[in-house]
Amino acid sequence: MDNCITKFLDLGNVFVEKIENNFNNIVVYVSTESREVVCPHCGHTTKRVHDYRLQDIKDVPYNGKSIIIRLRKRRYVCCECGKRFSEKYGFLPRYHHMTQRVYMHILRECRELSHTKVLLKGSA
Ligand SMILES: [Zn+2]
Repeated sequence: MDNCITKFLDLGNVFVEKIENNFNNIVVYVSTESREVVCPHCGHTTKRVHDYRLQDIKDVPYNGKSIIIRLRKRRYVCCECGKRFSEKYGFLPRYHHMTQRVYMHILRECRELSHTKVLLKGSA
């Protein structure tokens, strides 16, 4: 079931902890497995978790409800240089709070919108 929903949402290697089906949205709680990561500052590997933060990622609406992916974001601390850094997620473009699919969806909507405008202009 977990595997199905992550495949459906195209989230890659994450676990779905729970799903809240609310009146106007669906909140999917996801987390990732703790693993050894490479420190982006000094290149050493670390497994030491500093803390967790919840981050909401808006996804494309499904069935008239907006989907919110509530990611339990892990922050690591490097044992070598002591710096903290966040885990990287393939589905989460850096510095953005939306998944790639939201961009694609918006782009598509815009394209359709401008296409409609062109058609309207052409017929006028
Ligand atoms: Zn380091």
